[in-house]
Amino acid sequence: MIIVYTGNGKGKTTAAIGAGIRAIGHGKKVVMIEFMKGQKTGELNVKLPNFEVYQFGTKEFVVEPTEEDKEMAKEGLKFAEKIIENEQPFLLILDEINVAVKFGLIDSKEVIKLLKKAKNHVILTGRYAPREFIEIADLVTEMKEVKHPFKEGKPAVEGIDF
Ligand code: ATP
Ligand code: MG
Repeated sequence: MIIVYTGNGKGKTTAAIGAGIRAIGHGKKVVMIEFMKGQKTGELNVKLPNFEVYQFGTKEFVVEPTEEDKEMAKEGLKFAEKIIENEQPFLLILDEINVAVKFGLIDSKEVIKLLKKAKNHVILTGRYAPREFIEIADLVTEMKEVKHPFKEGKPAVEGIDF
């Protein structure tokens, strides 16, 4: 299955992590690749059997993408290709890949090529999922913001938001 979690509401990355936990509970292998992220997220430190997390991004929040952002995203995509070809985990999570495409860090065509090769389940997360991803996906959920504390100027909470 190809699964897309998109939309402006909170819960895309956490839903993907949740799906990963469920899968490893069945003894299956999960690889999560976080694009555009280099911050210490909680999931990066999780030590669970068959659950691996890799980051391809800087610590900075991307506003205007730099060459470094591009390089790292491309590296992440190459890494994903290797995982798909060699390891074939039950589930591969490509976190924030929708945003990486939206920012022009990687080409959606390259991602589609990869998805066509994959024999495992793949979850793609991030706002602004490109139309091509929605078309190729089997399952698409759009998270809708109803309320978010950020709007009241409240900062992100460790353990909930990252
Ligand atoms: P999470 O990682 O918490 O599941 P997400 O993947 O759905 O969130 P992203 O678009 O990746 O959301 O945003 C990452 C960060 O922005 C998180 O800290 C998240 O809490 C926060 N965030 C998510 N939705 C909103 C929103 N509507 N307004 C402000 N901040 C948001
Ligand atoms: Mg996210």
